[in-house]
Amino acid sequence: MPEPEDTVDAHSGGDAPTGPSDLMDKVVGLCKRRGFIFQSAEIYGGFRSTYDYGPLGVNLLRNVKNAWWDAMVQRRDDVVGLDAAILSPPAVWEASGHLANFSDPLVDCRNCHQRWREDKIGGVCPACGSTQFTEARAFNLMFKTHAGPIEDEGAVAYLRPETAQGMFINFANVLQTTRKRPPFGIAQVGKSFRNEITPQNFVFRTREFEQMEMEYFVPPAEAQHWFEYWLDERYRWYLGLGIPESQLRLRHHDADELSHYSTGTADVEFLFPWGWDELEGIANRTDFDLKAHATASGERLEYFDQTSGERYVPYVIEPAAGATRTMMAFLLAAYSEDEVGGEARTVLRLHPRLAPYQVGVLPLSKKETLEPTAREVLALLQPHFMCDYDVTQSIGKRYRRQDEVGTPWCVTIDFDSLEDRAVTVRDRDSTDQVRVPVDGLAAELRRRLDGA
Ligand code: ATP
Repeated sequence: MPEPEDTVDAHSGGDAPTGPSDLMDKVVGLCKRRGFIFQSAEIYGGFRSTYDYGPLGVNLLRNVKNAWWDAMVQRRDDVVGLDAAILSPPAVWEASGHLANFSDPLVDCRNCHQRWREDKIGGVCPACGSTQFTEARAFNLMFKTHAGPIEDEGAVAYLRPETAQGMFINFANVLQTTRKRPPFGIAQVGKSFRNEITPQNFVFRTREFEQMEMEYFVPPAEAQHWFEYWLDERYRWYLGLGIPESQLRLRHHDADELSHYSTGTADVEFLFPWGWDELEGIANRTDFDLKAHATASGERLEYFDQTSGERYVPYVIEPAAGATRTMMAFLLAAYSEDEVGGEARTVLRLHPRLAPYQVGVLPLSKKETLEPTAREVLALLQPHFMCDYDVTQSIGKRYRRQDEVGTPWCVTIDFDSLEDRAVTVRDRDSTDQVRVPVDGLAAELRRRLDGA
């Protein structure tokens, strides 16, 4: 049997680190130390506010995106997927209003000359405390580039600042090829780029990030109903994946906060270490986008209802979330510290569907006699779960390492396993250990994952 561990109070949940900045430092430190997130181009001194997702981070981020896709596309018959191009011609952004409106107010501090986003600093320079600034000027957030070898105006292209426009410009294509009728949605997950004036708070606000957006096309008279429906759905998605209710809220925008296209917007907010901040915006975009693209392109972007003979431009309800920002919220909410057998441990209480590894496969010792069975167990589990195979150091240390990265279950192969063809399954949160026959192992872990 594996070395015994004294059990902790499984229901205490452990202690959150003492203060907010302390928590932030600890999570950022863990991300680097364990290979979740690295500073991009670090060997060249780093590229400011740009990050690379390491071996564990890529699994976590992928799991966040998969959980979203599962809820928004796979389990619905009224939503289809799309993967549109990142590079797009100016016409798209002209019509959408981004060339004219997608800007933040930029000010320079007159004392230290640092540049800030006026609406985020409250009149005081965060660097030097001065209250003297230049007049605000509109700074467009889109990254501009050139497609092809000639860098003239005719070759201008933009990196998309949101994935949403891909859905609007493909509305007619999707309608024709899928024969969907409103209410129906088009969903997309992918990179977006914004030349943020002040990227900050680790991966909360970066210039290159990933979004998970869905445009839900509805008959105009039903827009308010579907707006409320999606607020509720989206709020519950975060709760279902382990964000505690005390750290999650819905906040409706005041009239003066609304975007140029919206008649109603609410944000799903998370209690970050610096306060409440946005994870996702849910907006009633009306028929603004389809009409704007129809006018600019000359194409008909509307729905013809053959039964009623009615022709109309659908309204759009848009839940727009950030994958990278949401991943950070899951990490912050999951981080905790407790004690096992009188020893401090760090544990990421990530939902098992999000954890970078669902299973750690750990032969009790490095002795060669254990390896064939341990590898057999690994091969048995790999088609179903993301597994880590770890043979180094004591079993206690290996449990700690798996706890620290959120692995919900460890499977230990010991010398008895060679005789009884059973292994020990150890639970991250309770540290409980039970013996499970190898033949029923995948089914038992699947049962736990489905029930989580
Ligand atoms: P903010 O007011 O924070 O700049 P926004 O309201 O402009 O954000 P949206 O355009 O609604 O953001 O984008 C939808 C989601 O995309 C946001 O809720 C957020 O999760 C994510 N997102 C937007 N900008 C960034 C960024 N620079 N870095 C990381 N995620 C982002």
